[in-house]
Amino acid sequence: MSSTNTIALDDAYVRLSKQSVDVLEGKKALIRVDFNVPMTDGKIVDDSRIKAALPTLEYLLKNNCSIVILSHLGRPKGKVVEELRLNAVAQRLQELLGRDIEKLDACIGDEIQNKKKNLQPGDILLLENTRFYYEETHNIVSFARELAQHMDFFVQDAFGCVHRAHASVEGVTHFLPSMMGLLVEKEFEALKSVFVTKKKPLTLLIGGAKIDTKIGVIRNFLPIADTILIAGGLANTFFNAKGYDVKESLVELDKAKIALEILQDAGEEACQIMLPRDFVVSKEISENAKTRILNRKANEEMEDGEKILDIGPDTIKRFSEVIANSQTVIWNGPAGLFEYTPFSEGTKALGKAIEENPNLTIVGGGDSIDAIHRFGFDTTKFSHISTGGGAMLEFLEGKMLPGISVLKKHKTL
Ligand code: ADP
Ligand code: MG
Repeated sequence: MSSTNTIALDDAYVRLSKQSVDVLEGKKALIRVDFNVPMTDGKIVDDSRIKAALPTLEYLLKNNCSIVILSHLGRPKGKVVEELRLNAVAQRLQELLGRDIEKLDACIGDEIQNKKKNLQPGDILLLENTRFYYEETHNIVSFARELAQHMDFFVQDAFGCVHRAHASVEGVTHFLPSMMGLLVEKEFEALKSVFVTKKKPLTLLIGGAKIDTKIGVIRNFLPIADTILIAGGLANTFFNAKGYDVKESLVELDKAKIALEILQDAGEEACQIMLPRDFVVSKEISENAKTRILNRKANEEMEDGEKILDIGPDTIKRFSEVIANSQTVIWNGPAGLFEYTPFSEGTKALGKAIEENPNLTIVGGGDSIDAIHRFGFDTTKFSHISTGGGAMLEFLEGKMLPGISVLKKHKTL
């Protein structure tokens, strides 16, 4: 973590939690949250992202602030998409907060500026989906300036978006004193602790589908981790690189060279990379698929048409032992195609091992969190469940996060 392009792990960031009561009293707070909730037929399927923002909103209200909320939803690509309006979000937020919320149909313009100008303590405005504006993702200065107009300070509480240099995430911070909200602070402290306290043995369990989103994380952990457990579709790319024919399995053939480099670098860093020895294969993906277990180390070969869809019992045992003996465990990515019962054992068993580990355990990634809920794990037993998949991965890669690094500037409120 030495390059200037990495996120600083010190305490120099401005935090909402550290502002004195009289400084906040009666001020107008502009807050960026991540209300990008999953929706089906106009209904919110999972409101956990809205719930995650409540502590900061309640904190601001307690301090007699007025609030203007910014969020995106989905990928409208700079145009108004009716189904992606924040109306359902406003409704749900109103219920959860138990306060009236005024939802507006735009983010900028005279009507909005007038409302912002006349805000009274306790007033809450929710502006429209920021991504209806092309200027949002292109971080256009004039748009950011308009978002900031009439406001006193900016609170960054959209952890899921801090890896994006967008106008409502990064741009606005050039116009207002800006600080971390309670959610971003919690995420930052939890993820930081991995690098700062470095409680050993430290294990990274990485699975899921695509190697290119995970490669940077694996690399960044080679000097820090004692063991990296590789599972899921990701492992297939390593098998292929080592010359094992994975037949119809999910695999990234063009990543073979990178996979071999990682294995070699691990040797130099004295980090143990463990790949599955056995796995569950099948020719079909369904709830009653016929499966068999193959052992790569025993030179058992796959047949034409078969796919590797989960880790096998021997691998579950070996990986679970490593997890049980770790002081720090970071988990991203399921061990198999867990959405189907015949391929869910690996994810279930490793998730259980992490749940039962009383030490520092951190989980992130949309599908990994889905798995935690699906298998009914006790979420309170994990030290931290991250609300940001991409942002967490980039943090763990050691990359600079534009929405956090800007919070270091010392503009006083
Ligand atoms: P996360 O969202 O937790 O970061 P990813 O998005 O990287 O995880 O990957 C999750 C997906 O990977 C899941 O849909 C899962 O079914 C799939 N997956 C895991 N292992 C395999 C495998 N062996 N073959 C095909 N898909 C897999
Ligand atoms: Mg995913």
